[in-house]
Amino acid sequence: MDKLWIAVDLDDVILDFAGQLRHAIEVEYDVTLPEFNKWEISELMNPVIGRSWWDWLRARPGIWAAAKPVRGALGSLGRLRLEGHYLEILTSKPDWAELSTWQWIGKWHPPVQRVTIVNLKQERKVDVSDADLLIDDKPQNCIEWAEDGRPALCFTQPYNRDLKLPVGVMRVDNWKAIMSVLEGPYLEWPERVRAQEAGMV
Ligand SMILES: [Mg+2]
Repeated sequence: MDKLWIAVDLDDVILDFAGQLRHAIEVEYDVTLPEFNKWEISELMNPVIGRSWWDWLRARPGIWAAAKPVRGALGSLGRLRLEGHYLEILTSKPDWAELSTWQWIGKWHPPVQRVTIVNLKQERKVDVSDADLLIDDKPQNCIEWAEDGRPALCFTQPYNRDLKLPVGVMRVDNWKAIMSVLEGPYLEWPERVRAQEAGMV
């Protein structure tokens, strides 16, 4: 198959950020949180913590760095690397979380050739990377990528699973699904994305 430059988001695609955050808050406050079914979780988290959850997390840098990998992510990246693809982690971060990013990568060493940290407030992923394909759980990133004429795979999470995705964005439920898309012929899968949009697959 064609060798691709593949950009992969880090949080909730490779690194289990939501699972780690949930665990840390449930342990610290002895609560059971409902499913994170919206991208914006402040309404859910701030009443439990009594202030901005983002400030809470900033004061606990060890939490982010201690997250576990998403099931199948590291092994699949290893396989894609062996197949000759060029792999980039493309992650949006506030300045204060950059150290956690490098600590996590240093611990788990995902087998990528490139890491790009995108400024959370000032940059869009689509403007920063020339990769052929994006794999991301944030619908807005996938949509902007597809609007640029490049295909994107939207990694299913509770906060995006009910969203209707536009042409050019294909839904993938897990790393097995990513591999079955990528190990098919590249030239075919923009067509499969359209077929999925039309409800044919
Ligand atoms: Mg993410």
